Amino acid sequence: MATADKPLAGQIAIVTGGSSGIGAGVVLAMAAAGAAVVVNYRSGVEGAEAMVGKVHAAGGRAVAIGADVSDEAQVEQLFREAEAAFGPPDILVANAGLQRDAAFAEMTLEQWRTVLDANLTGQFLCARAAVRAFRRRGPRAKVSRALGKIICMSSVHDVIPWAGHVNYASSKGGVSLLMRSLAQEVAPERIRVNAIAPGAIRTPINREAWETPEAEAQLLRLIPYGRVGEPEDIAEAAVWLASDASDYVVGTTLYVDGGMTLYPAFREGG
Ligand code: NAD
Repeated sequence: MATADKPLAGQIAIVTGGSSGIGAGVVLAMAAAGAAVVVNYRSGVEGAEAMVGKVHAAGGRAVAIGADVSDEAQVEQLFREAEAAFGPPDILVANAGLQRDAAFAEMTLEQWRTVLDANLTGQFLCARAAVRAFRRRGPRAKVSRALGKIICMSSVHDVIPWAGHVNYASSKGGVSLLMRSLAQEVAPERIRVNAIAPGAIRTPINREAWETPEAEAQLLRLIPYGRVGEPEDIAEAAVWLASDASDYVVGTTLYVDGGMTLYPAFREGG
């Protein structure tokens, strides 16, 4: 069923946090690649419906389903509604995430928990629901060589420590070993679990880091490739990781970061 220009033809993808930023880019790219896409959102149904409208306008299939990924019952409901709309999923992009920044000594327990709940527990709950759904459905050899694909949206801060963002870096460090341990556990069933670690991507989550020329110039000092990333940069990587073109890629984190993890300060010193 898959073709060169529609590598995800006939597949069903759930994208959490799909109404803005990177998730929105992934929704559009996966729909363009032939997948029917579930646009999960936590709040703001208008944004999610706007994404669905864009997919429909381009001739694709999408539906918006609300759920807080950190809530077990809501995640179960999300997967039930997704299945009712399109059938069991082939692809999960566990993308939803947030920041609650604070200096360490000032960080509240609520800030810590909010980030860990959404960024790490949310990925656990969604990935668990996806593994169960893949197993229930069984293989679809005509559609994909894998039983199912899970893509965890991590961050360069799964390896780069980040002062003032200890909760966020801890959550993404957790995602790294969640992803690899799960990949090891379910690979024999031909479920492929991988992660994408974006660098600095122009989205609402980090607006203050790029919205003024001064801020962007500061940010570019950290990016050897010399430009801020766009959601499409991540979306293209997600389509590839979800397609049979990457069928032998298992348990890997793909850094899509313009070289941010190359320690650019060492160009001048060290
Ligand atoms: P964003 O704020 O535009 O998107 C995040 C989305 O997740 C939002 O739509 C938000 O509503 C949703 N979300 C948050 N908590 C949720 C919850 N509990 N349940 C359901 N949805 C929830 O920001 P983004 O940059 O597009 O972020 C997407 C992912 O990429 C995040 O996991 C983020 O950590 C990661 N990331 C982003 C960057 C970057 O530079 N933008 C870099 C590295 C990693």
